[in-house]
Amino acid sequence: MRENDEVAAAAYDLVLAGGQIANADGTFPGTVAIQDGRIAAVWHADAIPDLIEATEVLDCSGRWVIPGGVDPHVHVGITFGDVQTPEDHLRCSRAALLGGTTTIVDFAIGRPDQSPLAAVDERLAGAREGSLADYALHGCYTDRDAEQLDQIPDLVDRGVRTIKVYTTYREQMMASDGLVRSIMERLMGFDGMTYVHAEDNSTIETLMAQLAGQGPIPYDKIRVARPEAAEVRAVRHVLEIAADVGAPVYFVHQSTPVASQLTRMARARGQLAYSEVCPHYVTLDESVYDAHAGECYTCCPPLRNKATVESLMRAVAAGHVDTIGSDHCAFGAAIKLERKHDLTRMPFGMPGVQTRVPLMLSELVCKRDVSMSTVVSLLSTNPARLCGLYPRKGVIAAGADADLLVWSPEGESTLTAAGLAHDSDYTPFEGWRVQGSLSTVIRRGTVMCRDGALVDDSPGQLLASGPISHTGPVALPGRQLSA
Ligand SMILES: [Zn+2]
Repeated sequence: MRENDEVAAAAYDLVLAGGQIANADGTFPGTVAIQDGRIAAVWHADAIPDLIEATEVLDCSGRWVIPGGVDPHVHVGITFGDVQTPEDHLRCSRAALLGGTTTIVDFAIGRPDQSPLAAVDERLAGAREGSLADYALHGCYTDRDAEQLDQIPDLVDRGVRTIKVYTTYREQMMASDGLVRSIMERLMGFDGMTYVHAEDNSTIETLMAQLAGQGPIPYDKIRVARPEAAEVRAVRHVLEIAADVGAPVYFVHQSTPVASQLTRMARARGQLAYSEVCPHYVTLDESVYDAHAGECYTCCPPLRNKATVESLMRAVAAGHVDTIGSDHCAFGAAIKLERKHDLTRMPFGMPGVQTRVPLMLSELVCKRDVSMSTVVSLLSTNPARLCGLYPRKGVIAAGADADLLVWSPEGESTLTAAGLAHDSDYTPFEGWRVQGSLSTVIRRGTVMCRDGALVDDSPGQLLASGPISHTGPVALPGRQLSA
């Protein structure tokens, strides 16, 4: 051990000692050493050098050390129709970090007068100025942009290799089948991937027209106007297009087990198809629309009935979906209230960037006994892979960015809007009991949060997405993992 001791005597910036380390492919007791923002060494508990010099040592005994959260679905300061949330990158990323998310992936959804590339440049400028979390971006194309496909190589140059399309919201965000196909084809040349908001527009338009016959449509009719069948129909249709093209496809916010299963079955047939769910679709059911402030829960797709929610949660717990994204949209309660009588003017979406990691650790690890590896894959490793950020993000291994969370299943807290830093005056999870406690959040080697307080305001980095990895997490080499 003499030689190893000498190697280890090099001083590290920070050492996380004696925790239970979790990656997507397994867990083991060990110690992590950090230098210059990266993980320099990972030792199994029975192979730790006698002497490790470090500027700071955090005792992690009795706690989990897991990769920092990667949220693949965040809308920083979203504009929806004529409503814009006042949230900026600073406030959104602060909330993300406090909730254990060290990397956020935002969407560059252009204004009507803006090209996809201009929207990307504007978003990147905002993030460069204000994001404390590391930051990556998805592009977005609508039918308005159908003549702008030549911008795709420029998006890739800017580090944007994933493009979102909507199959609904005609005349605002919708992309025709032809455009979806063209984007899939072009992105394949860059090992990129198309992200799809799948709800069948004609079904929704028909139902909305029927409802409108009786005057303005109140918000709680969202359940009738955007049924599960509309989502399932669109997923089936887009899977066929993707199969035709031979392109990978990622479905954002799947809200029904049937839609998610269709995706999984496509994968079993050899298609590269992925399913994202959101915390609210596996914890909240449509009965909230009948409760006080029910309009605050309007999102697309809407919350589903109890049986659907439970069934989707079982699929998540079984590891049958790929990622959990927040679909964070920081609308306030006032604008929701003001428009509760007119579904056509309602801004859809709910805040969730700060609650995603703590709530899912509580629900899955503490309450449903799901393995920590499965939860890590859903909250960090798979989002990193499918956003082109792996293995820099999403794994605890020598050479990866030192984005780490120290979390214990002990302790309990109650979620309240007042206790959250996110830029909205409500949370859909008001009053929820959350088991576990997140004591430390480390972003590229810097301790950003301790015991629930932000303790550093150094800037995050803009991340360029690389080719999307479809091969699953790379197995870690042996036990001695130092570089
Ligand atoms: Zn979204």
